[in-house]
Amino acid sequence: MAKKDAKKSKKKAKKNGKPKPTIAELLRVTPGFQLADVDPAATPGFSGDKKDAEKAMAAVRDEIDDLQERLYAGGRDGDGPAILLVVQGMDTAGKGGIMRHVVGTVDPQGVKLHAFKAPTAAERRHPFLWRIRRELPEPGYIGVFDRSHYEDVLVVRVHDLVPPATWSRRYGQINTFERSANAKGIHIIKVMLDISPDEQKKRLTERLDRPDKYWKFNPGDIDEREYWDHYMEAYQAMLEKTSTDENPWYVVPADHKWYARLAVQQLLLDELRSLDLQWPKADFDVKAQQKRLAAT
Ligand code: AMP
Ligand code: MG
Repeated sequence: MAKKDAKKSKKKAKKNGKPKPTIAELLRVTPGFQLADVDPAATPGFSGDKKDAEKAMAAVRDEIDDLQERLYAGGRDGDGPAILLVVQGMDTAGKGGIMRHVVGTVDPQGVKLHAFKAPTAAERRHPFLWRIRRELPEPGYIGVFDRSHYEDVLVVRVHDLVPPATWSRRYGQINTFERSANAKGIHIIKVMLDISPDEQKKRLTERLDRPDKYWKFNPGDIDEREYWDHYMEAYQAMLEKTSTDENPWYVVPADHKWYARLAVQQLLLDELRSLDLQWPKADFDVKAQQKRLAAT
């Protein structure tokens, strides 16, 4: 920006009061955060409707493509940053939609997606972070976790799958683990998709109304509704204990799928922009290669 323009925009911001907070700033979990105070039907930082959100998403797709390609190119030498998008949420919160509509628009070559299910017998023989560590993205990749190590302080806590002394230690272990991932160049974006129990009921109802949705229905999801308050307690504890300066959580209101998708796309774009990604310099003599090619 030219100096003059910078001055002008500063003046403008002053005149209108503070500059408008970004979606990321509005959704970021900071000390004192209360999950119960979030309205899952809200659309913080966005005043449009579904059509507007789809347009806004389409408008930045080229930029995301360009940044993702730079990220990927930068990792070809086995060095450089990676991104890890962690997506958590209750059943039907829209994790699959994030995978299709946000992650799915990125070049699949540069994406490494993993959905974490209940651990297998073999996985259970290892510490809980063992299977997570194996899925961390290599330099240049965008790793995406559909569920994650956070299940080990969510479903595990709610259903007493390990003793309280064990799960209560995990918050600190997770923070340490994530910092060690940061040290390897992995930038972590943690998203909780926040839906209301009423919206979940609607979505489960739809799954039972439509033969093309039966496959998504799991009778166990109805049992889990009984534990809603327990889950919210576990989510609140998770957010309090693991939203750090280095690796903050973002709670995304998700009753409107279109808003949740827009918000997560924005978080991904912000992260990509913040990396200041440059194209790798040629590790060969460009002029010499041009000459050689011309001679063929
Ligand atoms: P879905 O994401 O709908 O395919 O379901 C995956 C299931 O795996 C969910 O019911 C999760 O609660 C469960 N799950 C994922 N990770 C764990 C874990 N660490 N311990 C127990 N259950 C888990
Ligand atoms: Mg499910």
